[in-house]
Amino acid sequence: MDFISQRVASLAVSQTLAMSQRSAELRAQGVDVINLSVGEPDFDTPLHIKEAAKKAIDNNFTRYTPVPGYLSLRKAIADKLRNENGLDFAPEQIVVGNGAKQELCNVILATVNTGDEVVIPTPAWVSYVEMVKLADGKVVEVPTGIDSDFKVTPEQLEAAITPRTRMVLMCSPSNPTGSVYTRPELEAIAAVLARHPQVLVLADEIYEHINYTGNFTSMASLPGLEGRVVVINGVSKAYAMTGWRIGFCAAPAPVAKAISKLQGQYTSGASSIAQKAAEAAYTGPQECVAEMCEAFRRRRDLVVRLAREIPGLKVNEPQGAFYLFPQVEHYIGATAPDGTRIESDSDLAMYLLDRAHVATVAGSAFCAPGYIRFSYATSDDNLREAMKRIGAALAELRVQ
Ligand code: PMP
Ligand code: GLU
Repeated sequence: MDFISQRVASLAVSQTLAMSQRSAELRAQGVDVINLSVGEPDFDTPLHIKEAAKKAIDNNFTRYTPVPGYLSLRKAIADKLRNENGLDFAPEQIVVGNGAKQELCNVILATVNTGDEVVIPTPAWVSYVEMVKLADGKVVEVPTGIDSDFKVTPEQLEAAITPRTRMVLMCSPSNPTGSVYTRPELEAIAAVLARHPQVLVLADEIYEHINYTGNFTSMASLPGLEGRVVVINGVSKAYAMTGWRIGFCAAPAPVAKAISKLQGQYTSGASSIAQKAAEAAYTGPQECVAEMCEAFRRRRDLVVRLAREIPGLKVNEPQGAFYLFPQVEHYIGATAPDGTRIESDSDLAMYLLDRAHVATVAGSAFCAPGYIRFSYATSDDNLREAMKRIGAALAELRVQ
């Protein structure tokens, strides 16, 4: 008897976090591992944000917070949505929680009934599928590949939607592919969704500011989707604040209310201090955001160039986020120097960890076997060394 519920027993472990943990363990044993697994900015949180948090403690922002978040923070978020995205959400439509992750899960739990279909274009971030499983929903994957820049087409989406579809989940800029949908591409998708008014759109826009195209379109601004887009965003990526755990959803009023009810029963409002820091992030100087984005763009250029020099990797040029998602099919079926066979992208990721001491994440974790994800949110030196090691380890494989 292990006392574990069916619900949790059937959940997969988050492979991004698991790979990162494994690389930390190896590092603790003295192995010189380069960690390209977890996706988080390597920058420190900007000074003015840290100062705001210290001030919050001194000013005794130390008690329970309102379940959906401080009104002042929700107002700052409403202003951000209006000024940056042209969206009109009232503070009552915004719920702040412990990271975008909690708000994504809240939205799914608050809107998906048992057996409801949730359409997810893949490759897709690790946690979406598991969150839908938690809500007893049915995942409908729509696979895309490197040749279409990992973008779902309106035709594919139309074919995937049925009368049982409750939700379509979109992520742009995308984790794990770095693809960024253009406004015309999103308009074509919105035209399909407009024909299916029973579908709620869950738009994960957490990488909004790590975008090299110079253009970002929030799905909530698209014609035909008024009142049925939930926007997910937060401070983790744009302001290098992953550990502070503040994210939000902006939703139709009844959905926001339902999420508050849910959150009120199982976590309450998010940390008072972190909320004050997030408020400073949204209301303070924004230069830091552009500076970090520029650093990521330079690293993107470097890592794309180096990865393209490695034979057998098929590499596209990501337009946002901080991930490279090369196709590695060339090496599936190859034999390692010790005679073992690389049967899958997961075997390849393990081989790279053991042989090259570089931690990556297998494409399978993102419902995309045959690929591998590198997070390039690390120093140029680390990236150069990692690509050198990966190239050398792959050259040792015997490909049939
Ligand atoms: N969505 C995507 C696509 C992500 O990559 C992440 C990063 N873990 C999240 C949501 C969650 O971000 P957080 O909980 O740190 O706000
Ligand atoms: N978004 C990051 C990643 O995909 C953080 C880890 C996580 O929350 O899964 O690596």
